[in-house]
Amino acid sequence: MKTARMPKTKLEDYLKFNEERNQLGIKLIKGDITKSMFDLSFFVLEDKYNGKVFPEDEYNFPTFCGLCSFVGENDLSSRYLFHELKHAQKARDLGYNPSFQCMLTYMSEGVISMQLSVTFGNYIPPEDSVQILSAPDEMSPGDSKSYDKLIEGAS
Ligand SMILES: [Zn+2]
Repeated sequence: MKTARMPKTKLEDYLKFNEERNQLGIKLIKGDITKSMFDLSFFVLEDKYNGKVFPEDEYNFPTFCGLCSFVGENDLSSRYLFHELKHAQKARDLGYNPSFQCMLTYMSEGVISMQLSVTFGNYIPPEDSVQILSAPDEMSPGDSKSYDKLIEGAS
C-alpha cells in the first residue's frame, strides 16, 4: 500500500505549472519545437517552479489497478478514474503504453485536491493525440483546450 503524504504543492502553483507543461507538450506534438528544445524548456520550467511544485507530491502508477488502489486506500475521489481509463484505453488501442499519474495538492488546512492524468514515455503524433484526448464521453476543460490547440491550423 502506498500512503499519500500531506502535499506541499499548492493547487494554484500546480495549475500554472501544468498549463505551461501542456503548452510545451503541444508544441512538441505539433513539431513547433524539437525534442531537445522541449527537454531544455522542460528543465527550465521545472527550475522555475522549484520550491513551488514538489515532485514528491506526484504519484505514478504503471497500471490502472495501482492508481485505483491508491485512490481507495487514501480516501481520494474516484470520480474521474473512469475518465482517465477512457484516455488510457484509447491510447492502448493505438499501440501506446500509457501510465497513470496522480498529483496531490494542498488547497487549505486539511483539504487536498487531486489531479489525475495519463502519461506516455514516448512521442504521440497529433492525429493520435486528438483521439486520445477526445476518448472520454466528456472532455475536461484541459482536454478541450489541448484538443483545440492541436486541431488549430491543421487541415
Ligand atoms: Zn481527460
